[in-house]
Amino acid sequence: MSQPTAWAESPAAWPEGTVARYLTRAGEALRDPSITVDVSGVKGPYGYPYWCRGCMSKASACLSASFSLDTARERAHQHAEACRALPRPEGT
Ligand SMILES: [Zn+2]
Repeated sequence: MSQPTAWAESPAAWPEGTVARYLTRAGEALRDPSITVDVSGVKGPYGYPYWCRGCMSKASACLSASFSLDTARERAHQHAEACRALPRPEGT
């Protein structure tokens, strides 16, 4: 069994408007801080959107405009704890 690789020195920059970021299970397993779920603090018509950089899903559509930012954070956290998806390598 191979040894885990070292963590990257710094995680990717937070996109503008991002207020919370959660490392996914895949990111933890691969020691890759760039595989995250990012929560936007900019409220849209379906509430506060969050975006998974692992499975590339955007989850604002399942939220209601009446949901709070805390709800978006909670759901993003739950997604990050369960998501094992790997991002598609660039250029493929
Ligand atoms: Zn995901």
